[in-house]
Amino acid sequence: MNVTLVQGDITEQEVDAVVNAANSSLMGGGGVDGAIHRRGGPEILAECRRLRASHYGKGLPTGQAVATTAGRLPARWVIHTVGPVYSRSEDRSESLASCYRESLRVADTLKARSVALPAISTGIYGWPMDDAARIALEAVRQAGTAVEDVRFVLFDAAAYAVFEARLPG
Ligand code: ADP
Repeated sequence: MNVTLVQGDITEQEVDAVVNAANSSLMGGGGVDGAIHRRGGPEILAECRRLRASHYGKGLPTGQAVATTAGRLPARWVIHTVGPVYSRSEDRSESLASCYRESLRVADTLKARSVALPAISTGIYGWPMDDAARIALEAVRQAGTAVEDVRFVLFDAAAYAVFEARLPG
């Protein structure tokens, strides 16, 4: 498995699957979620609604992942995962690691070879970037996936630098 870093917009990535930092409602939101639905078009939300009705009446639980079409995005699939909200008083890092593991497990079921991942939970959900990068890189390294190209897409130069400092080699 090849882990690479890119600074940019996850919606522009030409990969088999892009991972969405969704919220549990699967009905869209801000940040990565907003960008994916805006650019991918209404087909993604339509499939999210069907998933809510068929499988996730109470919403997608934190740490789990589920795939939909990618609509008009260059990717074939969007894998939606729900990161934990950062907490100072409770250690939720296992749940954040689970987002990465589950996203790659779903990617394997789709036979995706290349996957773009955002820095889950580091936006609206408030996770400090350095700690999130440590958890993300470790979770991906330990995932045991057939995905060959794992690409972290960091939105700004600061986030890119934090991930780069933690990437071995
Ligand atoms: P969460 O709710 O899990 O915190 P956000 O989408 O708010 O998710 O933010 C997650 C990370 O993604 C943040 O570091 C944010 O700066 C970054 N981000 C926001 N938009 C994009 C985008 N279009 N492509 C890649 N990363 C993005």
